[in-house]
Amino acid sequence: MSNLEKLNSGKVRNDWTVAEIEAVYNQPFNDLMFAAQSVHRQHFNPNEVQTSTLLSIKTGACPEDCAYCPQSGHYNTGLSKEKLMAVQEVVEKAKQAKKTGATRFCMGAAWRSPRDKDLDVVLEMVRQVKDLGLETCVTLGMLTDEQAGKLAEAGLDYYNHNLDTSPEYYEQIITTRSYDNRLDTLQNVRDAGINVCSGGIIGMGENTKDRYGLLKELANMPEHPQSVPINMLVAVPGTPLGEVEKLDEFDFIRMIATARIIMPQSYVRLSAGREDMNEQTQSLCFLAGANSIFYGEKLLTTANPEAEADAILFERLGINPEKRHHSEDEIAAEAAEFAAQAAEKATAKGKAQFYDATQVK
Ligand code: SF4
Repeated sequence: MSNLEKLNSGKVRNDWTVAEIEAVYNQPFNDLMFAAQSVHRQHFNPNEVQTSTLLSIKTGACPEDCAYCPQSGHYNTGLSKEKLMAVQEVVEKAKQAKKTGATRFCMGAAWRSPRDKDLDVVLEMVRQVKDLGLETCVTLGMLTDEQAGKLAEAGLDYYNHNLDTSPEYYEQIITTRSYDNRLDTLQNVRDAGINVCSGGIIGMGENTKDRYGLLKELANMPEHPQSVPINMLVAVPGTPLGEVEKLDEFDFIRMIATARIIMPQSYVRLSAGREDMNEQTQSLCFLAGANSIFYGEKLLTTANPEAEADAILFERLGINPEKRHHSEDEIAAEAAEFAAQAAEKATAKGKAQFYDATQVK
């Protein structure tokens, strides 16, 4: 077996070097895709994608200075600020998300870290959303070990806290908290027994070494994050990265495939930036091993393709949304409903595009 074949084998490791990650990322595109898909099939159903819906439960006026983020209070992006939502309002949104086919409901708040009185409200949201039969995820900024413990007790399934980029490039992106702060929060989350959701953003002006560096940090955690969101920068005017040149989408697909190979058992999530990708690029991302998406109208404050468009794409690709934590009857009913909705939409689309030659005079 050649060295590259060994790297491509899908063995779970936590000692990746930058040189090894570079070798995986830079192999010929077809070889990379083949390797990623082969690894993917060792651990997952290749025709299933996990679907989450993301709701911004507190928007804007964040004291942090993340250079890509329209919610930072340091930049003027015209975003309207919203206070922490009421529990009942969030539960209603979660019910809608479930109806649309999501299996996980993610709630994001633009905080440096939650105040204890705000955390109490979020704990109630977690309990009630979980009671609906949805998995729960929150992203609230930095957490102490005590706060992580309270979230675990409330039944939280996932905590999202991204590393964003490599340790070397990090200071170009955020100055108000350190890389180590982020790693500490992730450690608190892991210690509390909550699944870790952590990834990064590419297209922020970083070089390819920074991309390998980000992947190395993620893959060499004591346990691979259960969920790895790979985001493509959505350049928002008014932020310091508002004018950054658009990323080559092949680089994005390579990033997904490399994440799949080096973190073989993690869900790799196709995240922000999907709105700007055509169906063919998204399909290549699925082929490269992406098996989780945000599904629904809004991804925090940036647009996300409509749920219906996703249902049509899934139908065309023969992909099914992954089902979780439901009874067999519920799974069958939901699958039938989803397929019927998708078929109806596909038929409507087909009719709209049908060219009836008999009508031509
Ligand atoms: S990414 Fe999160 S922490 Fe950073 S500015 Fe935006 S909301 Fe605040």
